[in-house]
Amino acid sequence: MMLRQLTYQSTAAGTVDQTVLRRITSDSLPFNTNNDISGILVFDGSHFFQVLEGPSDAVTTIFERIQSDPRHTDIIKITDTVVSERDFAPWRLRTLAIDETQQHGYWLPSDMQIQRHKPVFSVLGSFASGKWKVKNKPAVCTLPKTNSMPVYAAEPINSHIRFAYQPIIDTSHQVVTSVEALLRDTNGRYPADVLGQYNLDEQRHFDLESKAIAIKQASELLADDQSLSINLTPGAIIQRADAADFLLFCLKENGLRPDQLIVEVTENEIIGEHDKFLLVAERLRHAGIRLAIDDFGAGYAGLSLLTEFLPDKIKIDRCLATNIHASGPRQAIVYALIEFASTMGIPLIVEGIENVDEWRWLMQAGISRFQGFLFAKPLLNGIDAIAWQDLSQL
Ligand code: C2E
Ligand code: MN
Ligand code: MN
Repeated sequence: MMLRQLTYQSTAAGTVDQTVLRRITSDSLPFNTNNDISGILVFDGSHFFQVLEGPSDAVTTIFERIQSDPRHTDIIKITDTVVSERDFAPWRLRTLAIDETQQHGYWLPSDMQIQRHKPVFSVLGSFASGKWKVKNKPAVCTLPKTNSMPVYAAEPINSHIRFAYQPIIDTSHQVVTSVEALLRDTNGRYPADVLGQYNLDEQRHFDLESKAIAIKQASELLADDQSLSINLTPGAIIQRADAADFLLFCLKENGLRPDQLIVEVTENEIIGEHDKFLLVAERLRHAGIRLAIDDFGAGYAGLSLLTEFLPDKIKIDRCLATNIHASGPRQAIVYALIEFASTMGIPLIVEGIENVDEWRWLMQAGISRFQGFLFAKPLLNGIDAIAWQDLSQL
């Protein structure tokens, strides 16, 4: 039988005193006893931290029950692993109240064996030091009361290439900072299929040339203080020595400044053509064009990439944003990225925000730039309206 250990933290929904704590314990004991669950419940005056250990299925069932308990909210799953032995074996559910005002960390009763090398005790220590606490909820009510309107650019003529545009917005300053061009064709196909019909050389050629259309349309769509983000495989810029000049020419032709263009490159692609990429990056920067790392955190390059190449922007991949409000590991990673980005002065954007909880959590963590279906979906030949008013009521 597989033994599983799960830890989570949550916020108390109402006042929790000794009586309530005792009730929670006595409510849980019968189930825990019948299902061979052991664990502890720690309460610090406002937040709970619980360790559940036992047979895998029983842990799943009890965690589902716990998630629908109205006595707490903002449940964040921190760890969930198979273990070889229990850390809290003697207790079906031991409840501990720790004092928030304790200066020198938390205190556990001496009959509890603390094995400092085990992650579960580090995580407990992080809880006790307030790490998982959601700070201040954002003041969402300050968003403008009026919605924006969709805007369209003229359809490209004599070409089957199309672009859909998706805004990247700063929700604390309530502005669209840039717009990302996403490749489509007249059959409504998505990037992988549009590019996939060509061989590698053709793909690279097509990738670069297609941007003439994106830049032209963007010149009709963008305000002076907004920029255009385009996606390019590094190969498309490496292949042609004059790639930077080509982009500069398109920009000039359409009355856009070089600093209004951001080239997004994914982590994986950079690693594939590492040395050549660094040269290309220099060429683009020399021309005044900015570079962003796209899908950060989704690839295999990881942090070491940033020791060799510092981009002008980092776009954190959707895989880290999804459900971040309920995931301890994602929160810890994003906090670390925020720390890094602020040390190095690199703006962060989080992609793929689909729901309010994700957005709220990221706002309180200090992120203000977002892209995602919650705010606006990609729109063919144009920029979708942003329902600022709805956002302000969320
Ligand atoms: P990307 O650059 O990360 O672009 C964002 C993708 O996420 C887009 O998919 C967009 O529609 C989608 N997206 C945006 N917000 C959300 C959200 O809230 N939830 C979800 N589930 N998805 C969201 P799309 O248009 O299918 O593009 C896929 C990828 O294809 C792009 O990912 C980009 O890497 C690549 N691509 C797009 N255009 C080009 C291009 O012109 N050249 C090259 N080489 N690659 C391109
Ligand atoms: Mn992109
Ligand atoms: Mn991306």
